[in-house]
Amino acid sequence: MISALMPNYNRANIAFTHGQGAWLFGDDGRQYLDFGAGIATSSLGHGHKHLATAIAEQAAKVIHVSNLYRVPQAERLAARYVAASFADSVFFCNSGAEANEGLVKAIRKAQSDAGHPERTRIICFEGAFHGRTLAMISATGNAKYLAGFGKPVEGFDHVPFNNLNAVRAAITAETAGILVEPVQGEGGVRPADPDFLRGLRAACDEFGLFLGFDEVQTGMGRSGRLFAHEWAGVEPDVLSSAKGIGGGFPMAAVLAKEQVAKALVPGSHGTTYGGGPLACAAGNAVLDVILADGFMDQVNDTAAYLRAGLERLVAEHSGIFTEVRGLGLLLGLKCTVPNGDAQAAALAEGLLTVAAGDNVLRLAPPLIIGRAECDAALELLGNTASKRALAQAETVAK
Ligand SMILES: *Cc1c(COP(=O)(O)O)cnc(C)c1O
Repeated sequence: MISALMPNYNRANIAFTHGQGAWLFGDDGRQYLDFGAGIATSSLGHGHKHLATAIAEQAAKVIHVSNLYRVPQAERLAARYVAASFADSVFFCNSGAEANEGLVKAIRKAQSDAGHPERTRIICFEGAFHGRTLAMISATGNAKYLAGFGKPVEGFDHVPFNNLNAVRAAITAETAGILVEPVQGEGGVRPADPDFLRGLRAACDEFGLFLGFDEVQTGMGRSGRLFAHEWAGVEPDVLSSAKGIGGGFPMAAVLAKEQVAKALVPGSHGTTYGGGPLACAAGNAVLDVILADGFMDQVNDTAAYLRAGLERLVAEHSGIFTEVRGLGLLLGLKCTVPNGDAQAAALAEGLLTVAAGDNVLRLAPPLIIGRAECDAALELLGNTASKRALAQAETVAK
């Protein structure tokens, strides 16, 4: 008989009762070091006082009012993003896929408003991930996610990642914009070449297209900057953010330049929960932490320390791990063994990680970790690799 919860996930047989910082406590009585952060989402770790208090206090006042009224928490949060980023205006919603839907709608509508209703197509990339709605599995373009769901939604063209010539060749009179992740997260923690991102900006300017960055996974401090594109020194016209934005509270945002944002006139787009008082209280609390003096320096210091340790791990266990890749605290270990096996072996050692595409083991710890947590994770990864190596040696011996 089917389980009461629909069977659409492969869950490890472990549940967590509570957490503190980068640690989660299992109902098996063990403690686990969380280097997955709920898929790059629990950016402040677990049991964070400031975040938990902000949510509890807001919940006691008012949880939801709808967008029929002003929401001061949302006005404040939007103004803070505008002050801290390329954006002129912000739309709040509830998930990464929903933010990307809003981003694509805003690009199409802005082209239409500019006198180009024929410009509806978006150039996307092989290895991308943009979410699970019907339109976003089409934007993702991965056959595995499309299978069985009928004809893909029209309007998305795919070209190889990091290949500017392919992008320029794919631009037609119907192209409205480009959507790219500055680091492909699900696709295998593959960073875009900074020159490639600069080339996309130039192509958009040349052909009158809008440049969209999907920073659902790379944004909100994960890369060591508020947004990962800042490392390349280019600005998008529109950007989607989610995952870490609420520190684990469900929330997302579309940030845009005025030319794109102004296309979303009253009645053109909306969402019932988006930008509610509770989510925005969480969002403001997260920003209090990541915009505080020195926090991003700490993230970059920790990221460099972790990366150096991972390079040593790869050198010591080259039979298991062959490469470190990524940016900031979004890092990947390319595996020789199946990455799902490596993930399960790490879990058995007490370390939570997340598998990604291209046979990569992804590490996306809470941004609040320090060197001590890195040392602990590196030791657990070393143990994991040793046991794998032993298991393999055993297999060979038999
Ligand atoms: C996770 C993710 C999404 C989808 O976010 P959901 O909240 O699951 O809808 C979209 N884009 C990227 C880059 C992601 O990592």
